[in-house]
Amino acid sequence: MNKGKNSVISFTVCEKTANMMSEELSWCMRDKTPQYAKWQAKDGDTVITLYESGKVVFQGKDADLSSDFWISTERINSGKVNVKNSNTDKKKDNTSFVNPKIYYSSAIGSDEVGTGDYFGPIVVTAAFVPKDKISFLEELKVKDSKKLTDSDILKIVPKFIKEIKYESIILSNKEYNKYYSTSINMNKIKAILHNKVLYKLSQNVKDYDYIIIDEFAPKNVYFNYLKDASNVVRNITFFTKGEDKHLSVACASLISRYIFIQEFNKLSNSIGFELPKGAGNLVDDVANKIKDKYGFEKLEEIAKLNFKNTEKIKEN
Ligand code: MN
Repeated sequence: MNKGKNSVISFTVCEKTANMMSEELSWCMRDKTPQYAKWQAKDGDTVITLYESGKVVFQGKDADLSSDFWISTERINSGKVNVKNSNTDKKKDNTSFVNPKIYYSSAIGSDEVGTGDYFGPIVVTAAFVPKDKISFLEELKVKDSKKLTDSDILKIVPKFIKEIKYESIILSNKEYNKYYSTSINMNKIKAILHNKVLYKLSQNVKDYDYIIIDEFAPKNVYFNYLKDASNVVRNITFFTKGEDKHLSVACASLISRYIFIQEFNKLSNSIGFELPKGAGNLVDDVANKIKDKYGFEKLEEIAKLNFKNTEKIKEN
């Protein structure tokens, strides 16, 4: 898929997003930077440039894919984002095209949640949806997975979770903080976890036609992250907006969110603060209160310490 032409996507980021990007992309930064640029990085086929003005430009055939995460991060950090896309119409066609041959097949799909939230774990799920379960799931509105609220999810997921095979991994904040380093960034953590659940599930399911990942990194980058991993699942189809392409991805997304909500509530209850989602100002406020009450070390158990939020908290 995605044999799209080069596209250029640009938007302005706030300082927090700029700092997050600088850290996350430090591993693939180029030695030379264009004029007025703070840095330029090359992640897979995408060239990313951050300018001193705060403008960030994604170029390449996977630009829409690579920029997706940062567009939502900017939306979380500053509440809004104005995206310019040089190739809008073509790209819409590329990513929204649903192939009925795949949609009505039996497939394993995987998706993750929690990677944009300062508090709470990362949850990755692989789910198997055989073709004879598709209409049952459509009736439950699984198709609208992206539009469902937390309270919808708490109602809908119990209606199908026992009817399908799935594997989930919860990466606790403690484990995350232990793994995260300059050599293991967020996308590498995602790749390792996706591979684990896909491997486990594919061992238990024999009659699938496809294995689909909701794409978070270009294929070659994904497999490069796994070059030292064992049991690498190879026969994968990568889709952006994977939840529309096959309901296994939608189910994986919903189950991940279902588990995340429950884990998140457990964390909130255990420390006696209602934890906010995302990584915005409210998150900083609550993190500071937690530090005052329990000490900074507590955050190691409940937050992703590599986020820029941590620096602000230490300063206080
Ligand atoms: Mn996803």
